[in-house]
Amino acid sequence: MAKRVLIIGNGIIGLSSALAAIGRGFDVTVLDRNADSIENCSFGNSGMIVPSHFAPLAQPGVIAQGLRWMRDPESPFYIKPQLSWELMQWGMRFYMATNPDQVSAGSRLLKQMHLASRDKYCQWQDQGIDCSLSTRGLLMLCSSEHGLSEEAALAEKARELGIPASVLDPQETASLDPNITMKVHGSVYYPKDCHLNPAQLIRSLRSKISSLGGKFVYSKHVTGWDEHRGTIHAVQTTSGQYQADEFVLSSGVWSDGLSKPLGLKIPMQAGKGYSLTLPDPVELPKVCSILVEAKVAVTPIGSALRFGGTMQLGELNESIDPRRLNGILKSIPRYMPKFKASHFEGIEPWVGLRPVSPDGLPYIGRPRGIRNLVVATGHAMMGVSLGPITGELVAEILDGQSTSIDLQLASVDRFKD
Ligand SMILES: Cc1cc2nc3c(=O)[nH]c(=O)nc-3n(C[C@H](O)[C@H](O)[C@H](O)COP(=O)(O)OP(=O)(O)OC[C@H]3O[C@@H](n4cnc5c(N)ncnc54)[C@H](O)[C@@H]3O)c2cc1C
Repeated sequence: MAKRVLIIGNGIIGLSSALAAIGRGFDVTVLDRNADSIENCSFGNSGMIVPSHFAPLAQPGVIAQGLRWMRDPESPFYIKPQLSWELMQWGMRFYMATNPDQVSAGSRLLKQMHLASRDKYCQWQDQGIDCSLSTRGLLMLCSSEHGLSEEAALAEKARELGIPASVLDPQETASLDPNITMKVHGSVYYPKDCHLNPAQLIRSLRSKISSLGGKFVYSKHVTGWDEHRGTIHAVQTTSGQYQADEFVLSSGVWSDGLSKPLGLKIPMQAGKGYSLTLPDPVELPKVCSILVEAKVAVTPIGSALRFGGTMQLGELNESIDPRRLNGILKSIPRYMPKFKASHFEGIEPWVGLRPVSPDGLPYIGRPRGIRNLVVATGHAMMGVSLGPITGELVAEILDGQSTSIDLQLASVDRFKD
């Protein structure tokens, strides 16, 4: 009889794991607390697949920049000041992770994972998982000379790692995407990056999983574990228990709290972000882009155009800060002058909580001391990009194989004292 796998979390990580586990013959159930969950971080994000983002979030210079941004209420970064030991510890770990050796080891891991995921997305497309994948690349648009010189230095590192990247002047940038009027100092073009429609991806994955015999259980909030001597027998939910042979914890930013009763330590902060989607934009680019200084992602999604941004750390709630939204709106015309803040009147903002680990790397693997649990979470700003390969790695672990990518840096126990 096939081994039963219960996957907690119906986001991109849980669904990618489900698909890969079914492919290896497991009997898979995905459980989520939401009803036919669309209210997770995987639904309204910017949908970019980003080998360009090989550098982990924790890197030299980020803290100084972050402190400067803290003084500006419309800036793309904010940490809610609070007396929280967990947040302070998270900050200390972030600081420790900015040492150059750790950053370059993390970059090698992320590069490998992004490129493997990109390949998987292309395979998924061939297997009928339709998410409107576009492989046209990504432009890092710089409005300042300083921004361009920093991005050019990063492009150099990318090339050293084997990720193609070209630095473009304003004319070359414009000719790459004539559909959109741009006011830039220059850009870096990453041809391996892609974009997709995240909501379509989630729906398409769900229907593929169902068609292959995977089951979904909605509206069940996991509240605890039935665990004895390192073996989990069932999860307890708000209405009943669910048994399985193997369990996968892929509950996004909520994984930290859920794993505590098992004695795990997977520090995580919520990185709140927003997106705003214009259904009928004044111009529609073909290539996705990032407005570098403003940290805003711009993604064409069918005939609509999505703008996503902001990283508000330390708030596990979905309240909206209008000042941060205003910061996004104000920044757009600085790069794309045909857009005005008034175009966004009446557009409902979407909010998502990124699961952010202190060192900018995900947690993937079996924790010490629990025989039948695999953790897969902490993908921060890159869950879509790293989803398919994460699912594959989870399935390899469930299958008792050694993983196709070395996951030592992503160890679930790396912050356990
Ligand atoms: C504005 C914005 C833009 C982004 N753009 C990109 C991008 O372009 N590219 C990219 O790669 N990433 C992007 N991201 C990041 C990406 O969205 C996340 O990394 C990813 O969605 C995380 O997926 P997940 O499956 O780990 O978590 P989630 O999608 O949050 O799913 C977790 C699921 O677990 C369920 N759950 C939690 N607790 C319980 C419980 N107790 N019981 C039952 N179920 C539970 C939740 O209901 C939820 O459905 C962006 C994020 C934001 C906010």
